[in-house]
Amino acid sequence: MLSSKALAALLASATTLLAVHVQEDMLGYQDTPLLPGTQWHVHDGLRPQPRVVTPGPAGVTATPPSDAIVLFDGTSTDRWTGGPWKLEDGAMVVNGKGAIKTKQEFGDCQLHLEWKAPTYGDAKGPGGQGRGNSGVFFFGRYEIQVLDCFENQTYPDGMTGALYGQEPPMVNACRPAGEWQSYDICFKAPRFSDSGDLQSPAMATVFLNGICVHHGRLMDGATGHRALAKYGVHGAAGPIQLQDHGNPIAFRNIWARPLQLAK
Ligand code: MG
Repeated sequence: MLSSKALAALLASATTLLAVHVQEDMLGYQDTPLLPGTQWHVHDGLRPQPRVVTPGPAGVTATPPSDAIVLFDGTSTDRWTGGPWKLEDGAMVVNGKGAIKTKQEFGDCQLHLEWKAPTYGDAKGPGGQGRGNSGVFFFGRYEIQVLDCFENQTYPDGMTGALYGQEPPMVNACRPAGEWQSYDICFKAPRFSDSGDLQSPAMATVFLNGICVHHGRLMDGATGHRALAKYGVHGAAGPIQLQDHGNPIAFRNIWARPLQLAK
């Protein structure tokens, strides 16, 4: 028979083991702030996983329309600063040299880009946020997540197509790694008053592989990690930035159209 002290010690170690186990099983975090108006924490691993939708076949690319500003046509990285990333087979590939951003600045705009996550052959490869992580940052600060979430789960507000740390995509429309995938994004910039107050938040409509994953979703602020998004005043235009998260993601066929919105 165990003494009460030994029993208490046993229970304590079992609780610790359980806590460690639960922590390891978690896809995300529970110790982060609550997202306003929701029951979910930032990067909450218990948030429901969006259902999987299989997009149509890969391979059809969107030819830039006549008024598009072509940011990358497969031949040159001249329109970008930072990195530089590797030019390979008509794509720009993340190579550990840091983020890149457009030299030109954009406000309200439509953006098309295509990306491809790396494959790992028979190797298991990294999981969660380590698998094909990059991101598209409007104004260098509002991120639409790029990640390989084909049969790879992570916290829903950090998966492919998420407004990172804010809103999961409505569905998981990922293709397998190694296939080209597309984003078509309409981004409305936030408006600030002359005194720096937020007049209207940023808004994003996002198609992943032709499937709508956000429709007019208002953004809570600049993207953060394990923290609530918040706004900091900035000008009417800013660069489009692509993230170097250490994974060799390839990008191609990138073009943008500035939008003339009514207000
Ligand atoms: Mg990212």
